[in-house]
Amino acid sequence: MAYTIASVSTPSGSGAISIVRLCGERSLDYALCFFHCKELSGSLEEVKKSITPSMMYLGRFKYKDIFERCFLVYFKAPKSYTGEDMVEIQIHGGVKLTQLVLSALFEAGAKPAGPGEYTRRAFLNGKLSLSEAEGILSIINAESESALSASYRLANGKIGQTIERMGEEIKEVLAVFEASFDYPDEMAEEIVKGKEELFKLKGKIAGLLAGSERGRKIKSGIKVAIAGRPNVGKSSLLNALLGEERAIVTSEAGTTRDTVSESIEYQGVKLTFLDTAGIRESAGLVESIGIQRTFKAVYQADVILYVLDDSVGETLEDKATLEDIYSKGKKVIIINNKADLTGKTSQNSVSALTGEGVKEILDKLTGEVKEGEINGEDIITEERHILALSTALKHLESALAMADMPEDLIAEDLREALKALGEISGREVSEEVVDKVFSRFCVGK
Ligand code: GDP
Repeated sequence: MAYTIASVSTPSGSGAISIVRLCGERSLDYALCFFHCKELSGSLEEVKKSITPSMMYLGRFKYKDIFERCFLVYFKAPKSYTGEDMVEIQIHGGVKLTQLVLSALFEAGAKPAGPGEYTRRAFLNGKLSLSEAEGILSIINAESESALSASYRLANGKIGQTIERMGEEIKEVLAVFEASFDYPDEMAEEIVKGKEELFKLKGKIAGLLAGSERGRKIKSGIKVAIAGRPNVGKSSLLNALLGEERAIVTSEAGTTRDTVSESIEYQGVKLTFLDTAGIRESAGLVESIGIQRTFKAVYQADVILYVLDDSVGETLEDKATLEDIYSKGKKVIIINNKADLTGKTSQNSVSALTGEGVKEILDKLTGEVKEGEINGEDIITEERHILALSTALKHLESALAMADMPEDLIAEDLREALKALGEISGREVSEEVVDKVFSRFCVGK
């Protein structure tokens, strides 16, 4: 049995409430060294016997000069988050108070919890899979409704089930190939069917991988760079998109020297706008730094809003810049700004000044990510899962590469593919990978 750990599970700093958590065999022993209430009287053994799990007790935490009115809940193994005995104590959210309560528990014998140690124990105790643990982390870190929705599919095991089913299919085909070593003639028909199954499966995995780019955007948001020559209205457009005045708008050419990044959530999708200095050929030193940043922002972005002044149109300089951007394979949306001056109403005509056409840009930017119901779909959002699926796909491709590939080689590829899929749930995973996953958690989770 693992030793008992303790930590604060609420954010550091003062607040209304702090929750101090314990996990391990001696959780209750340590907590009861300091916690007293009238429902729980008698010796330690008597109290441990009479305490009702999952019930909240109001009492006092007594330690040194502390006489803290608090709540205590005992979660009895295996009915707890980690599968082990746990105790949670709710106290006032004072920094010093929290520190002292925690040090009391350390004094009693608890050890400080490491990052994600509770969730790690839950994983090790079979309470959740590795991908479900990643889903929990993802819920905590979600910055948009779409990210949250995708996180729940991961945390609730929906993605895991899809991967599990794929693994089952591979196992069935593998059994056919293995049987064919001994009975090649009887299995000929089964093998043809098995290969067809593998082919379908390959398509499914490729489909999941194809959607993972969308998954990345759901999780981290869409990065949008606003580029164009000076004075076309980039800063004004940024403000209009953000819906509030943030960047400084000025009519002097080339004053937006730095790159500003601002994020919003639009209809459940996170958008990060990278405002940029104007792209201009003949630039002074300071501005050329801005221009370098512009290009950096442009190449980091998922989408580039290239702004033109509609009353001027596209200049030769714009053409050259756009060609350069297109050559990097970047997605570009041309914005014809200052449409209020020209009165034009063509597609992508916008007036940063009046706000005309701004909503349409936002719809266009988020449309790709929003298409389809995020709730009902398997969207891969984790880099680790993308890698595992790519490996599985590579082995399935190799298994199907040649029509007359020997069965034992196919079987070997199938085992490798199975192993790669097993990494997602954590069934087939190294300690190192587990360490890496949980190091991303905070202490107390
Ligand atoms: P930037 O250098 O590309 O960032 O351009 P700014 O946003 O600083 O705008 C340059 C000038 O154009 C400012 O005087 C803005 O008020 C003006 N401007 C920006 N957008 C519009 C627009 O849609 N219509 C009109 N009439 N003026 C605009």
